[in-house]
Amino acid sequence: MLPTQLIAELKSTLGAANVLTDKEDMITYSFDATAGMPSKNPDLVVCPNSTEDVVAIVKLANKYNIPIYPRGSGTNLSGGTIPIEGGIVLSMLNMNQILEVDQDNLVAVVQPGVVIQSLNNEVLKYGLIYPPDPGTVTTATMGGSTMECSGGLRGLKYGVTKHYIMGMQLVLASGEVIKWGGKTVKNVSGYDLTALFTGSEGTLGIVTEILVKLIPTPEARQSFLAVFDDVDKAGRCISAIIRNKIIPATLEIMDNMTIRTVEEYAKIGLPTDAEAVLLIEVDGYRESVAREAEQVLKVCREEGASDVQAAKDDAARDKLWAARRAALPALARVSPTTVLEDATVPRSRIPEMLKAIRQIALKYDLKIGTFGHAGDGNLHPTILTDKHNAAEMHRVEQAVNEIFTVAISLGGTLSGEHGIGMAKAGFLNMEFGPAGVDVLRRLKEALDPDYRLNPGKIVRRD
Ligand SMILES: Cc1cc2nc3c(=O)[nH]c(=O)nc-3n(C[C@H](O)[C@H](O)[C@H](O)COP(=O)(O)OP(=O)(O)OC[C@H]3O[C@@H](n4cnc5c(N)ncnc54)[C@H](O)[C@@H]3O)c2cc1C
Repeated sequence: MLPTQLIAELKSTLGAANVLTDKEDMITYSFDATAGMPSKNPDLVVCPNSTEDVVAIVKLANKYNIPIYPRGSGTNLSGGTIPIEGGIVLSMLNMNQILEVDQDNLVAVVQPGVVIQSLNNEVLKYGLIYPPDPGTVTTATMGGSTMECSGGLRGLKYGVTKHYIMGMQLVLASGEVIKWGGKTVKNVSGYDLTALFTGSEGTLGIVTEILVKLIPTPEARQSFLAVFDDVDKAGRCISAIIRNKIIPATLEIMDNMTIRTVEEYAKIGLPTDAEAVLLIEVDGYRESVAREAEQVLKVCREEGASDVQAAKDDAARDKLWAARRAALPALARVSPTTVLEDATVPRSRIPEMLKAIRQIALKYDLKIGTFGHAGDGNLHPTILTDKHNAAEMHRVEQAVNEIFTVAISLGGTLSGEHGIGMAKAGFLNMEFGPAGVDVLRRLKEALDPDYRLNPGKIVRRD
């Protein structure tokens, strides 16, 4: 229970409508998109409208010694917004203004509650795009994706969120406001704070303004569906495309289980007997797209694709990408619990990783559908299970552990884009070793010594 005095002070600062206390509201904010995580009701949800509101909330939380959990749309997949120690959820959705689109400098300034697609709809009017596009582009916020350093379907050619952040305004755990970065292409003043805070998952500060880079909309694009009767061939084709110096905007894979499940869900004509498909899109100037498209066709055929279909028009293209975006929702319908992993390897090791995932599924007798941003080496092995089946959940834990171990042994990482949150905090030692984890801890404690901001995520208190 929070002190009634704190609730009264918050209501008088923010207005009663921006302070939620109903039980039903608390349940809504007790979980996020991550399966298999414990849920926990917050004591209170507050909805700031300005940086000044956020400062006031942080100062009150300090005064009453209460934790704060920043939250965008709650679509993260690492338990990043669960208020695990109780306290205050800070919903950033009211701060949803696009403050500036600067066509001369190709930048935009946004508040954290802006939905990624809304920014893209706005900048498209000027022939620009903001490339990071997680599967949740129509719901996820700029604040959440910045703090998660989201990737997405265009990562191979265009990079991920951190490549587009040029500056930020943040409220620290002390209540101080800091701002850095700007519209200059070059900026090496001091330590690289943008790199430190992007992907910090709300554990080091609360972002209240973000300055992002925009790029011109590609003139043309061409999508393909390449069909394989063997997953290894598909894996080798990914490496061959890159080796041939073609950098598609998007290079995605779906295995047979994912193909069948998506087809059953979305009925879009995918080849359900294929062992794997690659979804490929090249974009850029019309002439280069034509050339790259020819090369993609050639490489796919050389690498043993049984069929390669080029999307004839925008409708066919949209259908292909809708299929890919349906992968997780479709798999999630198969069983009560969906454990989605995000182990990532250098793309040359994709065939080995795909093989290891198949072996792990057999070893632990689990259903694992694999899809993902294969061109980035970022696979999403998705375990279809039931959290009420204790014996199976134990095998899931062992399988997850083994997936991470293999990924790291292949030179990869625990997370390509979904972050650490609560879900992977216990595995960090595997990647960083004790000294590395201690560096993370010292950074956390330098900026947030009381673990006020998003406790239990990335670095756990001893
Ligand atoms: C179906 C599905 C598909 C997905 N596809 C992808 C994908 O392709 N690529 C990818 O990278 N991710 C993907 N995700 C994960 C998720 O959508 C992204 O991480 C997304 O960017 C999170 O945005 P959000 O607004 O929901 O953030 P939230 O989940 O609300 O928050 C994410 C993190 O940011 C922190 N946070 C939020 N706002 C602030 C703030 N203002 N200041 C400080 N910290 C803050 C939170 O505390 C939390 O740690 C997918 C998720 C689902 C469910």
